[in-house]
Amino acid sequence: MKKNYLLTPGPTPLPPEVCEALARPIIHHRTPQFQAILKEVGEGLQYIFQTKNDVFILTSSGTGAMEAAVVNLLSSGDTAITVEGGKFGERWTELCKAYGINAKVLKVEWGKAVDPKEIEKLLKQDPTIKAVFVTACETSTGVDNNIKAIAEVIKPTKAVLVVDAISALASVDLKTDEWGLDMVVSGSQKGMMLPPGLGFISISEKAYKLIEVSRSPRYYLDLRLAKKAWAKTDTPFTPAISVIIALKAALDIIKQQGLENIFARHKKMADATRKAMLALGLELFAPSAASEGVTAVKVPQGIDGEKLVKTMRDTHGVTIAGGQAELKGKVFRIAHMGYINEFDIILGISCLEKVLYQMGHKFELGKGIKAAEEVFLK
Ligand SMILES: *Cc1c(COP(=O)(O)O)cnc(C)c1O
Repeated sequence: MKKNYLLTPGPTPLPPEVCEALARPIIHHRTPQFQAILKEVGEGLQYIFQTKNDVFILTSSGTGAMEAAVVNLLSSGDTAITVEGGKFGERWTELCKAYGINAKVLKVEWGKAVDPKEIEKLLKQDPTIKAVFVTACETSTGVDNNIKAIAEVIKPTKAVLVVDAISALASVDLKTDEWGLDMVVSGSQKGMMLPPGLGFISISEKAYKLIEVSRSPRYYLDLRLAKKAWAKTDTPFTPAISVIIALKAALDIIKQQGLENIFARHKKMADATRKAMLALGLELFAPSAASEGVTAVKVPQGIDGEKLVKTMRDTHGVTIAGGQAELKGKVFRIAHMGYINEFDIILGISCLEKVLYQMGHKFELGKGIKAAEEVFLK
């Protein structure tokens, strides 16, 4: 008998309250009933984003919110910095290129965090730079960038800071207003414990000024339309009604637990996962900047990384993520974000031990689980 467990950095498992909300009969969106839900989720998102500014809900995956940031802030011919330390950093560059924006690419070795001083240097060299695009948690490499320190070097300049927090939101602490993050974009299927389908975006005053003058072509992703509708607690187009109703259920869970406790739980799961991997004689891919939401681990010599992930999934029902792009077959990634708890982690490590053992990796069985248990007992 096979049971399925999802330990991937998106989609993540759904709490029963979210599944129940998704199963309810649909309601119409231009009704006081739905408007009350929109109002409540709007306030809930402000709590999660740690901002007093409006947070808009888009019907798209996270990339739609990234594209909305690019087209609303900039115009063809503008210059922006994109920080590339993994597959999702590269997406910022690709989006800029698609709209004729001159992307100054700051390449960071995969597995390392960006040095904020490098961003500062580029900004000093070229005062026409209008925006800096970074990734909070670079899900492809398991790295958390130091967003607070990055914000400090951008704040005194004319540029706006745009943060991809698609996997970081509700798993890694991001103080939007306190740190001065101009645009924070996210999606529903990671730390937010929802299915894919929603994009979120918060906007500062500084960013609004750019939105007003952007000449980029846009229609569905026009944030001016979103802002106008939001002033009347509405959306410009038919929203993903059921996912928004489920968002209310997810926000209720998050509010009940409290953000501080949620971040502490993620930290502990990350610590347990890392200690377990080291105990199994494995090497972390990003030891100097390991993420609190996902751990990337090097596939040991002589082991087929793709086969490892496939066997865990197809034989045992435990889905972890493999490596993307240039890391294909070279790393595997275990998510510890959203509706994943300590016993899911123990289960994931247990399955990993079994398959690694069968594949010939030499270690003492149970050592990974023991290391994780010791962290959880603290
Ligand atoms: C998942 C992810 C994305 C892509 O989001 P989609 O919802 O698949 O469009 C972008 N950036 C980061 C950091 C992610 O983790």
